[in-house]
Amino acid sequence: MAEKNTQKYEAALRSKAQELAESLRDRSRIAIEQSAEACEVMVMAANRELNILGLDRDSRMAREVQAALARLQNGSYGNCLRCEEPIKPKRLEVVPWARHCVSCQEMLEQEQNEDDAQEELHDLIAA
Ligand SMILES: [Zn+2]
Repeated sequence: MAEKNTQKYEAALRSKAQELAESLRDRSRIAIEQSAEACEVMVMAANRELNILGLDRDSRMAREVQAALARLQNGSYGNCLRCEEPIKPKRLEVVPWARHCVSCQEMLEQEQNEDDAQEELHDLIAA
């Protein structure tokens, strides 16, 4: 990949890493606020759940971004980790931390969904 392109992606990755680090530091998102109103407490509990999901997603993404920066360092950036074909620049523009090309990503997501379905089936049988 051309030097000027890797610099562009590196800048994008670094600003994303920064943004995620700030977001992850902001623990006020999951603080429990005191409120007299029961319905408000319920709403806040629901919001808190959502925020925890958001933190979980952010920390996973932060790891993805760090991994992408490491790939920039070792020169493997921009290649699919599965089929080793170059990932389309259009995809990297949108998702600079992408590990897989679109077709591998779709395949992996499909496998993931099948795994989830299997797990649900196990849960049903176990219940
Ligand atoms: Zn691929």
